[in-house]
Amino acid sequence: SALPDQDEAKEFYAKYEPKEALGKGISSIVRRCVSKDTGQEYAVKIIDISGEKAEDFHADQTKRETIREINILKMCDGHPNIINLHDSFQTPTFIFLVFELCKQGELFDYLTQVVTLSEKRTRIIMKQLLEAVEFIHNKNIVHRDLKPENILLDDNLNIKLSDFGFATVLGPEEELTELCGTPGYLAPEVLAVSMYENVPGYRLEVDMWAIGVIMYTLLCGAPPFWHRKQMQMLRMIMEAKYSFGTPEWDDISQPPKDLISKLLVKEAKNRLTATQALQHPFFKRELKPEKQFY
Ligand code: ADP
Ligand code: MG
Repeated sequence: SALPDQDEAKEFYAKYEPKEALGKGISSIVRRCVSKDTGQEYAVKIIDISGEKAEDFHADQTKRETIREINILKMCDGHPNIINLHDSFQTPTFIFLVFELCKQGELFDYLTQVVTLSEKRTRIIMKQLLEAVEFIHNKNIVHRDLKPENILLDDNLNIKLSDFGFATVLGPEEELTELCGTPGYLAPEVLAVSMYENVPGYRLEVDMWAIGVIMYTLLCGAPPFWHRKQMQMLRMIMEAKYSFGTPEWDDISQPPKDLISKLLVKEAKNRLTATQALQHPFFKRELKPEKQFY
């Protein structure tokens, strides 16, 4: 993909040297870049708002959505498990978001390499993910696209929650009705509101459902809701129909299964919140017996 014109994006090019692509979306590309001042590496998300790739209406929408993304990223500043927005630039045709670089890439790719995670590794990752989500939910921010592709890993394999492209701030009584996210991670109430009339909208609980899907997938290497026909898969989600039936689950202890079963709950109001999930026995360290001296 071509880089934005030098003249137009002078400010960005004055400070950063763009390098290879790290990821790509519909109207954006993420590249590694290096600060000309400090030599420090970053990741820059370059968002096309020119309207050349889509209609003007969509370009306007992309721009508005990107400004919302920037505002939310600024609200989330300072949490160790949320991606840090270092810098941003805007031209008539592009928006540049300069993030801290996550060299180890996506949790998705890590999982593809290792297939499944141990209970211990899952506990570390889930605790960090729940702390990041507790932090944003306390600000009434709903992420709406939690999945291993949007969870990045730093050099120490600590997670950084990223891609706030669908995130939004909820008003006190506000209920959302928009269908957005990724099919396999959609909560039953998101599907319900887009399929039926006279059903309530959704709120923060949709993120907790997605966290249940993620945790299930980390432990057994396969998603809880899957069918080669997407309609069938969506039906399984709406009925919260999943099981711990595959052989991988035989060797997995009860606490993580219990936690998943309290997240993949059809009724949003009966699902654990992030704060409640962090209190679950799965995160209580078994006290190691004192070292014996002979
Ligand atoms: P999109 O809205 O297109 O999904 P993302 O913000 O999720 O955009 O970025 C797309 C991909 O680019 C990510 O899934 C990841 O592979 C890569 N990426 C994004 N931000 C970073 C970063 N800070 N460090 C390393 N890779 C990143
Ligand atoms: Mg993404």
